[in-house]
Amino acid sequence: MKNILLLFFCLAILVACKSIPPEIDKSNSILKIEENENKLLKTIEEFNLAAENAQAGDKLILANGIWKDAELKINKNGTSSKPIFITVEEKGKVFLEGQSNLKIGGSFIHVEGLVFRNGYTPSGSVIAFKSGKENFCNNCRVTECVIDDYNPPERHDSDYWVEIYGKNNRFDHNYLVGKRNRGVTLAVRLKTEASRENNHIIDYNHFGYHPILGSNGGETLRVGTSHYSMSNSNTVVENNYFERCNGELEIISSKSCQNTFNNNTFFECQGTLTMRHGNETLVKNNTFLGNGKPNTGGIRIINETQTVKNNYCEGLTGTRFRAALVIMNGVPNSPLNRYFQVIDSEASNNMIIDCDHIQLCAGSDEERSATPNNTKMNSNIIYNTKKDKVFTIYDDVSGIEFKDNLLSNNMDFPQYQETELKKGFKKQEINLIRENGILSSNTHPHIGPDPLLPRINQTNTGIPWYPKKNYQIEFDNGKDILVKPGENTIYEAVKNSKKGDRIILTQKGKYLESKSIDIKHTLTIIGENELNTKPIITFERSSLFNVLNEGSLSLENLKFSGEDCDDYAGNAVIRTSRYSMINNYKLKIKGCDFENLDVNHSFNVLKVYKNSFADSILVKDCNFKNITGHVFNLDKEFDDIGIYNVENFEMENCTFENIGGVAINLYRGGRDESTFGPILKLRNTEFFNVGHDKRNKYNAALSIHGVQFAEMENLNFKDSKKVKMHLVVGEPVIKLNNIDFDACDKMTSNSDAYQRSNINVKNAK
Ligand code: CA
Repeated sequence: MKNILLLFFCLAILVACKSIPPEIDKSNSILKIEENENKLLKTIEEFNLAAENAQAGDKLILANGIWKDAELKINKNGTSSKPIFITVEEKGKVFLEGQSNLKIGGSFIHVEGLVFRNGYTPSGSVIAFKSGKENFCNNCRVTECVIDDYNPPERHDSDYWVEIYGKNNRFDHNYLVGKRNRGVTLAVRLKTEASRENNHIIDYNHFGYHPILGSNGGETLRVGTSHYSMSNSNTVVENNYFERCNGELEIISSKSCQNTFNNNTFFECQGTLTMRHGNETLVKNNTFLGNGKPNTGGIRIINETQTVKNNYCEGLTGTRFRAALVIMNGVPNSPLNRYFQVIDSEASNNMIIDCDHIQLCAGSDEERSATPNNTKMNSNIIYNTKKDKVFTIYDDVSGIEFKDNLLSNNMDFPQYQETELKKGFKKQEINLIRENGILSSNTHPHIGPDPLLPRINQTNTGIPWYPKKNYQIEFDNGKDILVKPGENTIYEAVKNSKKGDRIILTQKGKYLESKSIDIKHTLTIIGENELNTKPIITFERSSLFNVLNEGSLSLENLKFSGEDCDDYAGNAVIRTSRYSMINNYKLKIKGCDFENLDVNHSFNVLKVYKNSFADSILVKDCNFKNITGHVFNLDKEFDDIGIYNVENFEMENCTFENIGGVAINLYRGGRDESTFGPILKLRNTEFFNVGHDKRNKYNAALSIHGVQFAEMENLNFKDSKKVKMHLVVGEPVIKLNNIDFDACDKMTSNSDAYQRSNINVKNAK
């Protein structure tokens, strides 16, 4: 009996020990634990050998230099007092390039100081917290690592940068910047029991610029997937800095239960922290700063028992699903991958300053008909110096309790079906003071983030020893290169140019290019402003400019003629790379004339290829005349999976005359709702005799398919084919104002859910 009791006692201790999660090292002091052996490793073979024989306390040190095609893998167990270290000789001097990656399995492994750049992972992720299918890492830490622009050449080939499996891991003080291809930057995976209730901590990381992907799959952080979304993840994401994470609608996609998002800062991020699946999420003390940038959003609530408290939103402009605060409608008896009803949730004590939109019952439609239930919206300050109306209520809000919310005096009460929701909102003068970059109210100290928490920015996150990268495309920050008329003078100048340079055509006259000009970096080509006649550029090959990966082009005050082109079909003034462009590009055209592109049929001004994506195409004060094909043709993503070729297309003060094809052709097919674009702004533009070529299969002068936002104003169409619109999912915002048609085909649209005013039709065909 005594033995049995003893055995029972031992078992009890064992069970008790097991149930206490080991302490995660949250200090930022490094390598303080004494180690057995320091091994300075110079080759991958030396690393493999050291990893194979690693004992608790060993320190595997990568020697300074470039490690090319280094696949680092370890599957060993350290202990809490003696972790196994994988670290570097000197921080900032060890680079993993080419086809490198890291896989860690086992336990108590501490990785520090690795920089991945100039290449991409040969496997599904750059850093994986597993060394084999089921060999997960537990109690491991990855700190002070960098993944910088480490992308494959194909933008729609997907990979992760970081995949966290196992339990009790910490990912902290890392810098991840420039993810461009499809696939989440950092994903917490819950595939098996061994990775659930994981208590991971993701903190003090700097998530740097993430360009627009133009497709679903551009999330910066995802915790779980719909498949395992009813499992607890218990992941804590706190004190991170998200800088311009613009990949897609979801900056963060929480897809599991019991996660915490606390005290993160989102700086000019397009998108929202979305509780996409799973329940009992806590979103607290986060700061969203939009600075008026387009599509910046805050928090989106879906599912049950979600708590959104003490957050701070300022200057967010996003609407629909990326508003400052969004409470969604759900689908009755929703399948796992659709939208669960919002129940027992709360959005309280939040500070919402100068944000354009708060959306309640968002997404309400035939399928998403379940309105929020037993949900609270209490004690929020909603303050606006610019707008009176910020609420949009799409459906019955009787399931939301509103109490003690404060509106600034100038604002209107939210309205639902002609009724003002006065109960629950009070208008009053609110005195706010700005401290540490955010506003707070002395009289309402319980509203907004906890002032005792550190303000998170780019100096107290990430790492100090690696330069911050600004990957935004910027024109005109290089030198001026002066060019005279002649043959291939522009070609030579471009060949000798550097990123950001301006090539200035100093004299009027003819510039004949007998070679296609590859644009490999950001360049401006400009006709001297003083000239009263624009310099004329002609070309002989099938394209004048090839915008290649990393290229962007600005053209100003120039005249382009197709008179010297080879007599082939399908020529173009500008074309993108024929191969996948992992980098987005920008195109700016101002004060240019494009004439006589008619040596053969199907001549384009801009011809794009599949897997190319323009951040923006801005066209101003231009004339297009005698062109046989489409002028701007952006219809090369035809798989109907929500992918498209341009985010922002803006045009003003232009004329089109005698155009065989479509003047502007934008296409996004499918039912995906995770992007913002394409966005079209078109104003003060005239179309004469556009679209009549028999090869124009669109049978239109202007064709917009799946565009999500379009503002078309002061347009004049004469003797032209129709304006053709096809509106798809996601409440596209389409506004037409002051459009004149004279002797044109009738405008067509699959839906009349668009705004129109002052449309004048004369001599209709
Ligand atoms: Ca998504």
